[in-house]
Amino acid sequence: MTESLHKSIGQELMLIDGQWVGADSGEFLPVENPAKKGTEAGQVPRAGKAEVDRAVLAAQNAFPAWRDMPARERGKAMLKIADALEAQVEDFARLYTLETGNAIATQSRGETMLTADMFRYFGGVASEIKGEVVPLGETLLSYSRREPLGVVAGIIPWNAPLALGALKITMALVPGNTLVLKPSVEAPLTAIKLARLCAEFLPPGVLNVVTGKGSECGQALLDHPGIAKLSFTGSTEVGQRIMQAAAERIIPVSLELGGKSPQIVFPDANDDETVQGVINAMRFIRQGQSCTAGSRLFLHASIYDDFLGRLTEKLKGLKIGDPFDETTQMGAIVNRNQYETVCGYIGETLKLPGANAVIGGMPPETGPLSEGYFVEPTIFSGVDNEWRITKEEVFGPVLTVIPWEDETEAIQMSNDTHYGLSAFIFTRDISKGLKTAQAVESGFVQVNQGLGIVPGQSYGGFKQSGIGREWSLEGMLESFTRRKSITVNLAY
Ligand code: NAP
Ligand code: MG
Repeated sequence: MTESLHKSIGQELMLIDGQWVGADSGEFLPVENPAKKGTEAGQVPRAGKAEVDRAVLAAQNAFPAWRDMPARERGKAMLKIADALEAQVEDFARLYTLETGNAIATQSRGETMLTADMFRYFGGVASEIKGEVVPLGETLLSYSRREPLGVVAGIIPWNAPLALGALKITMALVPGNTLVLKPSVEAPLTAIKLARLCAEFLPPGVLNVVTGKGSECGQALLDHPGIAKLSFTGSTEVGQRIMQAAAERIIPVSLELGGKSPQIVFPDANDDETVQGVINAMRFIRQGQSCTAGSRLFLHASIYDDFLGRLTEKLKGLKIGDPFDETTQMGAIVNRNQYETVCGYIGETLKLPGANAVIGGMPPETGPLSEGYFVEPTIFSGVDNEWRITKEEVFGPVLTVIPWEDETEAIQMSNDTHYGLSAFIFTRDISKGLKTAQAVESGFVQVNQGLGIVPGQSYGGFKQSGIGREWSLEGMLESFTRRKSITVNLAY
């Protein structure tokens, strides 16, 4: 029924200086359709240093005029993009589903709407890029201004290319920077489609998109002396390289990195609403491929069996399969590599003494689910908080569960990680909830819900989950502008 929707879009191009171009070599790289093993969603140019050089030059040339435009005018462009995007939600959601394997009904449309909301939010706050006046006396006018930095390099991962592409575009452009965006070669198509839409409302060179491998095109961008700021979302491992590159030239860097986030369920939250909250927080409908996924569940011992039973029952009802099917709630893992990584973690844990897959496990080798990179929701009990499965980011639909009796112990286990991105706490006792929220070492905490980030909330990690805040006006000001202090002697 959905066969025609699985068709490859063919060869896409890159946006450099307002022109749609291929790589100098003429080479293209394939983008997998993860719901149908061995098929393509499309192809993108394999860019390297030469193309990156041209994109950065275009962004440098476009910078002065864009910087000097009134902020509200730049904001207006964002608002127009938001309207245009909202009129094309279906087209965007389809392409997003094709290249990422996310279910159209539960994820792709929602992320497209969130993306439009992001343009609207940052377009709306454009005129809030204000400075202050310092009261040094009547004969001195001392004030500060927020100035853009120049050319920003935005590097994004494959797991939320639409929302994260929009985030880099809005936060860089609204204060007057220009941008060279590099989406992941694993899922670049929707980000390019977004750039096609944005380009209709922007002068040439303000937004440029280069595609290619991280090690080639991404590295060339990191090393380019014309880049004034690196804004990176991706793994902690690559994040370290980004920071090293920034250190070479002393340029600012924002890092939104990985996570292994805890969910703490108190004994008074043994109900279906909490079960749903835990499922939401684990991002099962995104196959767990979310940096904020609450992938470590700490359940109070007194409700352990009962709650786990309810959770398992509910997950059994989750429909997994063809992401274009309107009744599908959970799609495919993004590509073969990631699928093998996830299966590796599951296979390894299954062999460990005491570990028990309460639900899920290794994916089926036959039947419809074997036609794509589908992994069923998996929960491991009987795990040790020191194992790889509880320590490392799996980035798949795999949840570990550990019982606790004492609150201090629950918090200690939650914080026993080098990550610190998000945390989820469920209790009807609000003071307990707030005390726990204060004690967890995470940048983004939710009490009694498992939802995602909303534009306007300052978002970013503690510890090795990142540096800097994004998603909000404050984040944009801190991360994408520099403050200049000017003093005028009025008695002169
Ligand atoms: P990744 O492997 O770190 O890649 C992220 C981006 O960096 C991709 O565009 C990649 O390019 C590029 N890259 C790789 N090597 C590079 C290099 N040497 N120089 C410059 N760029 C390079 O991450 P991923 O596998 O795409 O995404 C999953 C990770 O992202 C997870 O760890 C997840 O937690 C994290 N994430 C964090 C947040 C957050 O807000 N904190 C949000 C979403 C995801 P190619 O892929 O094209 O090679
Ligand atoms: Mg990767």
